[in-house]
Amino acid sequence: MRAYNFSAGPATLPEEVLKEVQAEMLDYKGTGMSLMEMSHRGPEYSALHAETIANIKQLLKIPEGYSVLFMTGGASSQFAIIPMNLLGEGQTADYTDSGAWASKAIKEAKMLGNINVVADCGKEIPTRVPTMEELNLTDGAAYLHITSNETISGAQWKTFPDCKAPLIADMSSDILSRPLDVSKFDLIYAGAQKNLGPAGITLVIIKDELAERCPESVPTMMRYKTFIKSNSLYNTIPTFPVYVLCLVTRWLLAKGGLEGMAKQNDDKAAKLYAAIDESGFYTGTAVKENRSSMNITFRIANHDLESKFIAEASEKNLKGLKGHRDVGGIRASIYNAFPVEGVDALVSFMKEFEANNG
Ligand SMILES: *Cc1c(COP(=O)(O)O)cnc(C)c1O
Repeated sequence: MRAYNFSAGPATLPEEVLKEVQAEMLDYKGTGMSLMEMSHRGPEYSALHAETIANIKQLLKIPEGYSVLFMTGGASSQFAIIPMNLLGEGQTADYTDSGAWASKAIKEAKMLGNINVVADCGKEIPTRVPTMEELNLTDGAAYLHITSNETISGAQWKTFPDCKAPLIADMSSDILSRPLDVSKFDLIYAGAQKNLGPAGITLVIIKDELAERCPESVPTMMRYKTFIKSNSLYNTIPTFPVYVLCLVTRWLLAKGGLEGMAKQNDDKAAKLYAAIDESGFYTGTAVKENRSSMNITFRIANHDLESKFIAEASEKNLKGLKGHRDVGGIRASIYNAFPVEGVDALVSFMKEFEANNG
């Protein structure tokens, strides 16, 4: 029996996709070998690579002038690659601090140049993201960096800031969860293991002209330009994660694209937030306006009951509900592939646990 897996990442993948991977594992389309064993420049992988990029462009309605790249090193490497490519000497880059992930991005960027933290609510409880009015933007900033969804705190930007500087977003935990106006952004990046596929690749969507800024001193594999020119095939790309991502994008298109997905995600999240709000027992961690539709974070006033909650839920096949080790509490991550039945099962368990312990 499959578990209801609330893990924040690596996270649940669509069951249909896993079954297809299984069916094709030993003999990919009559070739007598698995896709993992083939050249990354051969016809089978090349077709998948091109289809994955085309599907992502279709799902996000990406305008002309942008490239879709697959890089490695996770979103964490992008924290450094971004300032290496885009923050010139003597320039300042703006960052919002909305929590643990934003602050990691800031820490790396500070090693490489001048950083202005334009709003800081990263340590506030209840958790939230900055308001537009709070942003103390730098004139002539190299770019503004935001974290669209704070996976650990459960706070999400619902609308995005207007700014003159190029807008860069870490969308690791909510990419492809809702429709997006890509033209507002100059660079979007996301580690794959939350909403896209298995760990191993990082999706980057970049405006081509932005990549031209890169100084000559940046090593080849650290440059966006290298990935744009080579179609992400300068070196051996992790083929298996791209293959699974391709199947996930087909699954998304078959499900009605991002409009359909956003509706489903909002419905799933609303059920859990209603269960929290209807009880006097559970408290949501994030302010209501910024509540994430992906990572639902909450607490029980008596913190000792939280480990009991997590242990008893696990016995009922509801796995991975422990909050991040830095903040504690309970976190239900319900990305695109997380089934609505699992949300219903958690809501029932929450009611039962409150009746027994409240
Ligand atoms: C998980 C996560 C990261 C780190 O991703 P890695 O691929 O493990 O480097 C960065 N930012 C956000 C918002 C995340 O959720």
